[in-house]
Amino acid sequence: MNAPIHSSESTVLIVGAGLAGYHVARQARQHGHTGPISIIGDENRPAYDRPALSKAFLNGTVNFEDLHLDDPSNPLEVTWHSGSGAVELSTEPLGVRTADGTFHAGDNVVIVTGAEAQRLPSFGRSGGAFVLRNVEDGLALRERMIEGQRIAVVGGGFLGLEAVSTFLDRGAAEITVIADEQFPGEARLGAAVGQAIRHLHEQRGVKFGPPVYAHSVTDTEDGSQVLNLTNGDAVQADVIVCAIGATPATRWLRDGELTLGPSGAILCDDFGFTGIPGVWAAGDCAQWTSQAAGIRPIGQWQEAVEQARIVAAAIMGAPPVPFQEPYFWSEQYDVMIQGAGRIAQSNEVHILDGSIEGGDLLVSYRLDGEEIGILGMNRMREIKRWRKMRTARVLASA
Ligand SMILES: Cc1cc2nc3c(=O)[nH]c(=O)nc-3n(C[C@H](O)[C@H](O)[C@H](O)COP(=O)(O)OP(=O)(O)OC[C@H]3O[C@@H](n4cnc5c(N)ncnc54)[C@H](O)[C@@H]3O)c2cc1C
Repeated sequence: MNAPIHSSESTVLIVGAGLAGYHVARQARQHGHTGPISIIGDENRPAYDRPALSKAFLNGTVNFEDLHLDDPSNPLEVTWHSGSGAVELSTEPLGVRTADGTFHAGDNVVIVTGAEAQRLPSFGRSGGAFVLRNVEDGLALRERMIEGQRIAVVGGGFLGLEAVSTFLDRGAAEITVIADEQFPGEARLGAAVGQAIRHLHEQRGVKFGPPVYAHSVTDTEDGSQVLNLTNGDAVQADVIVCAIGATPATRWLRDGELTLGPSGAILCDDFGFTGIPGVWAAGDCAQWTSQAAGIRPIGQWQEAVEQARIVAAAIMGAPPVPFQEPYFWSEQYDVMIQGAGRIAQSNEVHILDGSIEGGDLLVSYRLDGEEIGILGMNRMREIKRWRKMRTARVLASA
């Protein structure tokens, strides 16, 4: 304790044993950090990666061991504290208290507690009502009989639609998607991409309801469930999956000194600094605002790893790591959707190639005429080239 904050000997306390937490520790060690590093996790499991939970894990082609983040042949030199989450942040002395009453001190505290699945206002855990955020959720859905069943998925985001494609693979009899947009993701990605994604699912028999919100689930006597919609309609299903987004897991910080945004995300600068000396945040629980690149996206794998890299360098007092362009992907059936750049900030969308029906769109996102992002459906080569060019540009300007 009491080493300078920006030092290779400081005590680093990482709160959250997920993707960003793992990578902060790994990157700190790679930068030559020699001080003690502890990782506190509320889950009673080794740290794991989440993307497969809505894909290969859900249809049983990979197991939990395949998701482990740490490499058993080259394990991280850290102390893991699993099964008891942080309930309080103390700034003097700096550290956190966990639910079992233990106080963990650190010269640097990195908050990487991720997010929690949002649920409908009335959404029981019984019967067929599921969410998808952690491995227990994934296991529950993986063990649930899907073949021959009627499935309702609430939410037209990537997570829900990836689950849809897995359920079809597992022999679901009927799948209905209930979302607040006519075409999935159209507000964020543009109408053409929304139409192409919807077409991808419709041509395989998936049904989409009219744009509407779902508000509750009720059980019926025959064991099925009813999804109640705000327009008065109802959808009967054997399995209901709620994929309506995630909320930063920061409830435990609500009455403390950190500044939280309207969504509950911890507000940070472009180094993950929270404004409280020695306290940093990254990944799905944090909203970074970069002076150079504007608001950074939340809820993307690559962003969490990138932020972890930047925080680790900042803790060490190493030269700032330049930002890479944001990047995400989603796998639906045999289509790989990839997006790169600052898509959310664009004000024009142009189709460069492909068609809505072909499921092979290549789309350019522009801000006042300048290309700032790209999205491709089964366009791996083009996306790779675009990202490479952008990385070269970022490095040249650093
Ligand atoms: C099912 C699923 C599929 C996804 N697929 C994709 C994809 O295809 N492409 C893509 O780009 N991104 C995808 N993502 C997003 C990506 O996985 C996340 O952005 C990433 O996991 C964020 O990392 P994180 O470390 O911030 O949070 P997490 O990986 O969620 O880790 C946070 C950890 O902190 C723990 N925690 C919470 N509260 C506390 C507390 N108080 N004390 C201690 N520990 C706590 C949590 O239990 C968790 O273990 C997917 C996410 C999910 C859930």
